[in-house]
Amino acid sequence: MLKIDTRLIELSKEVEKEIKEQIDLVDQNCMINSRKVLEAFQENKISDVHFGSTTGYGYGDIGRESIEKIFAKVLGAEDSLVRSQFISGTHALTVALFAFLRPGDTLLSITGKPYDTLDEIIGIVPNNSSLKSFNVNYEQIDLKENDFNYEEIEKIVKHSNIKVIEIQRSKGYSTRESLCIDKLEKVIKLIKSINKEIIIMIDNCYCEFVETISPLEVGADVIVGSLIKNLGGGIAPNGAYIAGRKDLVELAAERLTAPGQGKEVGPTLGINKSILQGIYMAPSVVANSLKTAIFASCMLEKLGYKVSPKFNDKRADIVQNIEFGEADKLIKYCQGIQMGSAIDSNSIPEPWDMPGYNDKIIMASGSFTQGSSIEISCDGPIRPPYIAYMQGSLTYEYGKLAVLNAISNM
Ligand SMILES: *Cc1c(COP(=O)(O)O)cnc(C)c1O
Repeated sequence: MLKIDTRLIELSKEVEKEIKEQIDLVDQNCMINSRKVLEAFQENKISDVHFGSTTGYGYGDIGRESIEKIFAKVLGAEDSLVRSQFISGTHALTVALFAFLRPGDTLLSITGKPYDTLDEIIGIVPNNSSLKSFNVNYEQIDLKENDFNYEEIEKIVKHSNIKVIEIQRSKGYSTRESLCIDKLEKVIKLIKSINKEIIIMIDNCYCEFVETISPLEVGADVIVGSLIKNLGGGIAPNGAYIAGRKDLVELAAERLTAPGQGKEVGPTLGINKSILQGIYMAPSVVANSLKTAIFASCMLEKLGYKVSPKFNDKRADIVQNIEFGEADKLIKYCQGIQMGSAIDSNSIPEPWDMPGYNDKIIMASGSFTQGSSIEISCDGPIRPPYIAYMQGSLTYEYGKLAVLNAISNM
């Protein structure tokens, strides 16, 4: 049951007046992104034949083919691979890295240590199936004051032989800021001016439709994201996408399926309609997530917590950080989000050892789709300074109710 402290209702009215300008900006972007999606549907003449299904090899699945054209169009890509055979974003990132890198090649991250689930993929944490076990080298350059370390990047790109550069836009479980398109554009220009051959791969998780252009439109070669986040619109039951240069999408397809088969196979088993509905809803769902994040940011700042981004900061992703400073408050807040959700509101999340993560994680996700973080969700590693990473909400109203419930629960 919701237990919302009545004193918070007054405060929330004040907050909603204060955030009006930011909310309007979110609506403007949503309009632009919605138009893009609608035009992509029209251009591909989507009709109910595209909701059909294939089994077995999945040859000639016109729904799947049209979905991949729509994603390519919306993301400014030459081609895309949108598949439920990708378990999630982590798997798509794995497939992309193994598709582009060969023994002796070097992968360089220029946004510091990548997202926790990539540790064993790269071999930062030992694993017998990691890139490292195939003799793929890894180097990293940390960010400098929330921006790229341009000097260091220039030096390494000039003097070593780098095959792939990975840029992770969203902060993951770090305390840095997420990276907007304008910063991406600057660093991509620099890299390409030195060496055009380097493959620039973007981990675009949580960033789709937050702004109105994609990294591919400012020179990135390939982008990767999860369908249980932004572009799934809360409707896609699983999956992920890889989009960008045609030759790179082809390499990824041949790694996901088999050399010689690539994009031609992959049964859709009845999910085409859900993926289409998901991308159709995605601009609005991302807008609602942003509104929830902006509301939470302003509320919690007023209550004395350190938040990032602040309500009036420019946003690159849908993630809202709240620094609690103590484990108990972080846990109580996450539990309050869970209790304020529609699904599993009666189960109380506890910190646990999640596969692929190093610290204990508390994860509140009262969602229709397991682990979906485009639905209202809140998680964080149990380590100082005890930061919650809150994101999602299919509607602003449900998001607001969950936030009010979580604050009341502390
Ligand atoms: C969520 C996330 C991933 C992994 O995506 P999943 O769909 O959870 O596997 C990778 N990178 C970043 C930055 C993420 O936020």
